[in-house]
Amino acid sequence: MPESSNRVAPELRVGHLYPDQLNMYGDRGNIITLRQRCVWRGIALRHTPIDLGEELRPDEFDLLFIGGGQDKEQDEVARDLREVKGAALRAAVDSDMPVLGVCGGYQLLAKFYRPAEGPELEGIGILDAWTIHKGKAVARCIGNVALQWGEQTLVGFENHGGRTYLGAGAQPLGRVLAGHGNNSEDHQEGCVYRNTFGTYLHGSLLPKNPHFADHLISLALRRRYGQGAESYMRPLDDSREWQAHDAMLRRLGVAPRRHAAVG
Ligand code: GLN
Repeated sequence: MPESSNRVAPELRVGHLYPDQLNMYGDRGNIITLRQRCVWRGIALRHTPIDLGEELRPDEFDLLFIGGGQDKEQDEVARDLREVKGAALRAAVDSDMPVLGVCGGYQLLAKFYRPAEGPELEGIGILDAWTIHKGKAVARCIGNVALQWGEQTLVGFENHGGRTYLGAGAQPLGRVLAGHGNNSEDHQEGCVYRNTFGTYLHGSLLPKNPHFADHLISLALRRRYGQGAESYMRPLDDSREWQAHDAMLRRLGVAPRRHAAVG
């Protein structure tokens, strides 16, 4: 990390995939959180929407986000991933760019999503997982969720009809402490591959999970600026964020953990 006085302020270039089609439950709040946590640290955040039909140029970004949506919007996005952005998104993932996919976006980062009605939607197969909707007569997975994530917890809100199943070698994001998770059966939630994180946690996810937001920012900065980038990640006063996090845990009957900053 350059110590000279002419040290250039770091920046984080965030690509927001399909913001008009996939933005359920204020998933846009994840971008707002990333921006604010960067601004508080003097890191410039450049946010670029990447819409249907637009080319994805991975070398122009440090982090990508794709939110959740209804089956209809997912159909449009699946086609665009297949015809326009899929190869570039796979290249970004294989270059260890951090990618966060929530709910419908998560489902399309995997192998396929079989909706209650209509044709199966092909995903881009980054995640070794697949999703099957059990039909409109089967209750959706709706409610607040708490996960064990390493030594920490994650909280959020889920609303999905699809049930996601992980392949033999796939890693879940976390273990369900309260709520449904991927499929209400195996107590797993989400899926992780390299620096790609798929999850059902809306909320939006990042405001109540500052440690996870910082994990994504750190991954992106280290990838771009090297290990010295840690010097940009000074600890923030997250007392309000943890109050909201722990209040959700208590509401779900889960004992709050000790909070340590996660780089
Ligand atoms: N349409 C998908 C499902 O119902 C995803 C929903 C969402 O993104 N919240 O499973």
